[in-house]
Amino acid sequence: MATSSGPSVGERATTAETLRAEVVSIGDELTTGQRLDTNSQWISRELGVLGVPVAFHTTITDSLDDGIAAFRIAAERAEIIVVTGGLGPTADDLTRDVLARVAGVPLDLSAAALADVEARFARRAVPCPESNRRQALFPRGSRIIANPEGTAPGIDLDLPRTSSAGNARVFALPGVPGEMRTMWQATVGPAILAMLPGAGTIRFRRIKCFGAGESAIEAMLPDLVRRGREPLVGITAHEATITLRIAARGRDLAACEAAIAPTEAVIRECLGGIVYGTEDDEVEDAALAALATAGATLATVEVGSLGQIAGLLAAAAARGPEGRFRGGVVLPAIAAGITVTELARQRRADSGATHALAIGPIVPVAEAIGESVGGVTMVEIVLAGPDGITRREHRLGGAGTVRLARASKTAIDLVRTTLVPPAGDGLPRGATR
Ligand code: ATP
Ligand code: MG
Repeated sequence: MATSSGPSVGERATTAETLRAEVVSIGDELTTGQRLDTNSQWISRELGVLGVPVAFHTTITDSLDDGIAAFRIAAERAEIIVVTGGLGPTADDLTRDVLARVAGVPLDLSAAALADVEARFARRAVPCPESNRRQALFPRGSRIIANPEGTAPGIDLDLPRTSSAGNARVFALPGVPGEMRTMWQATVGPAILAMLPGAGTIRFRRIKCFGAGESAIEAMLPDLVRRGREPLVGITAHEATITLRIAARGRDLAACEAAIAPTEAVIRECLGGIVYGTEDDEVEDAALAALATAGATLATVEVGSLGQIAGLLAAAAARGPEGRFRGGVVLPAIAAGITVTELARQRRADSGATHALAIGPIVPVAEAIGESVGGVTMVEIVLAGPDGITRREHRLGGAGTVRLARASKTAIDLVRTTLVPPAGDGLPRGATR
């Protein structure tokens, strides 16, 4: 494939301030409201981290004419256009055709991309359908964006402007969110960064937290989570796990790392034991790591949490320390007259593990943790170990599945916080017990 080089942005695009982006989502699924366009949200946040303002969001159907019309407009008003969707093999996946038409170029078959698509099918011992060969077609002059997770590569292409000199640069990615994110991180983000004046490189560090809400954590980090800070700290929440992402720009990776370190230190100091890990760590990974450090083992018993605790721990055991998780029991209900503490003690005795974790509803009328009493779900979590019992009552808010995830993770995190009392009093700065 041709490799036109250098940033290909419009003339007025000489600083990050004047570089503007348009985010385009393609698919009838989106325009009909069957699916929410989360790709645009994610990409816009990423562009914000890079310092590129997003001026427009556009959502279009799987139609050639609508696509052509939308890209003609986008090319005139944005220097960077990031597109998701419509790169698949089916007849309604028209992004490559739309881009070729707007650029006024033919589609060329890339031998390398075709070999790649065929190799993927060969690895799965499945013949490559004729339709998938379409995914090896690229507008002439475009650059291929590798897709390590799927068959559809992305397209990096310059669209000429008619109203002014220069081009708009389009990055087209598949609609599948996981593939799109991987390709952004590996290729598109760095390519956009390279378009910005004076930008060297960017480095991210994710600090994972559990045990306090998003706004509480933000309040514990005075002045850290604010726009325009260098390095920038972003905060996101997913099922009660809070991620702080530090984004540092610098000449090279060493400069980025040096910029990240003091910010990470401040976060750890302010949040204390709320920080359980980094990057892709989940609370269950931290729990197993704590068990391994302590030379301990864990068995679980659950009532009303649909086996989620066992599921999370089993998955963590498959990717992490072996032999720490000794298995889980999932019960349909708690027997009359039995307490959650007794369940934990019993499970510990039966399993031979050093520790047993039990969860169950507190209020007898609540049959499952998914049930709420006056909008509040009450659960009891007990960890039985050689040093006795650690017991917590939790009031859990949120909708059904989120309640379950919160309850399960709260229980799992009790293993970590019990086994590894954090340095100092274990409390975040400014908190009182
Ligand atoms: P594929 O090769 O899978 O067909 P594609 O590039 O053609 O990829 P689409 O067919 O448009 O992408 O979308 C694939 C799937 O990705 C959709 O069914 C949907 O689940 C998801 N998806 C697409 N666009 C978005 C979006 N904007 N936000 C969230 N999810 C999306
Ligand atoms: Mg598709």
